[in-house]
Amino acid sequence: TLLNRYDMSLDGGDGGGITEAFKADSFDKKINLGVGAYRDDQGKPYVLPSVRKAEEKVIASRLNKEYAGITGVPEFTKAAAVLAYGKDSTALNRLAITQSISGTGALRIGGAFLARHFPGAKTIYIPTPSWANHAAVFKDSGLTVEKYSYYNKDTIGLDFEGMLADIKAAPEGSIFLFHACAHNPTGVDPTPEQWKQIEAAVKSRGHFSFFDMAYQGFASGNIDTDAFAVRYFVEQGHNVALAQSFAKNMGLYGERVGAFSLVCADAAEAKRVDSQVKILVRPMYSNPPIHGARIAAEILNSPELYGQWLGEVKGMADRIITMRALLKENLEKLGSKHDWSHITSQIGMFAYTGLTPEEMDKLAKEFSVYATRDGRISVAGITSENVGRLAESIFKVKG
Ligand code: PLP
Repeated sequence: TLLNRYDMSLDGGDGGGITEAFKADSFDKKINLGVGAYRDDQGKPYVLPSVRKAEEKVIASRLNKEYAGITGVPEFTKAAAVLAYGKDSTALNRLAITQSISGTGALRIGGAFLARHFPGAKTIYIPTPSWANHAAVFKDSGLTVEKYSYYNKDTIGLDFEGMLADIKAAPEGSIFLFHACAHNPTGVDPTPEQWKQIEAAVKSRGHFSFFDMAYQGFASGNIDTDAFAVRYFVEQGHNVALAQSFAKNMGLYGERVGAFSLVCADAAEAKRVDSQVKILVRPMYSNPPIHGARIAAEILNSPELYGQWLGEVKGMADRIITMRALLKENLEKLGSKHDWSHITSQIGMFAYTGLTPEEMDKLAKEFSVYATRDGRISVAGITSENVGRLAESIFKVKG
């Protein structure tokens, strides 16, 4: 039916179809590595204790439910900017920032803003591959979407030369979308040294950089390490655009907490951009939801909760890093002759295994291990209990 087809295309290979197949499987040791959300070591969704505490404080303060302004809860957006750019950043007093419907909404506002106001070609270059929703978001925002090289399937790593060459070959003054950290779906990030060379290439061509930071803190466990690229570009004089999400790092998925910001030339320009952003947002959704933003603001603005949250983000990142190491170790113990070092060199929630679509089908059909056919597994779905069986299954399929 039309509805079914609509659902499939929405899923974008991110889990809808996999979840269905997973649910239909009656094997009790089945493994779902298709989900794009963190799970604890028991495979359960995780609400951060700092989030629970902040939410209790918000509820206890019995605030009213009146509308926020068009650009959201100011205590939230101010703190979100400090988190992303750093408290001493020169960007902070020349920043236009608005709360958004999580990271997706931030990308959408950014796309629409660039479609309307970017002075050059309305084309955005995204990496190959990229998050399944990027192309759709930017197309629907009114931008033309082009691709740049990013992933090398032979090395299961970064195609750094190809990436640099494509940045240099793009028409001067193009728009480039970068994943700030924990590239989705590959888990392959440039090193700080490589970011420096990317910045130089971007600058030499006068390109405009749009960063998608959906995983700050969640990648390395450290919010500053993960913000390196964004902050470095700003230091080097780029007036970047930035999409932030608090879905992963605060586990606020369904609360839809995010921010879009644009670093401007000066405070006066930031003011003009701010009114243009309001003109864009008003007819889209008038103003954003308040509850999740209040929770995030409570955490970011209370030194005690902030400290606790940093520890919890690191806890999530560390569990992911540990599962990567365990998976690799188990594969090696089984005698796999393949080089699995990419499993631990990649970062963030997702790992590109290098398995083919046929091998992924076999994993599902014969071993009840479900993930997308591109070979991407959600490391968040691995637990101390299932990692052994997962490694065996991969070993039996791949050798
Ligand atoms: N950008 C990337 C790279 C993502 O992986 C995601 C979520 O998976 C998002 C943006 C947006 O997520 P959300 O809208 O839930 O914040």
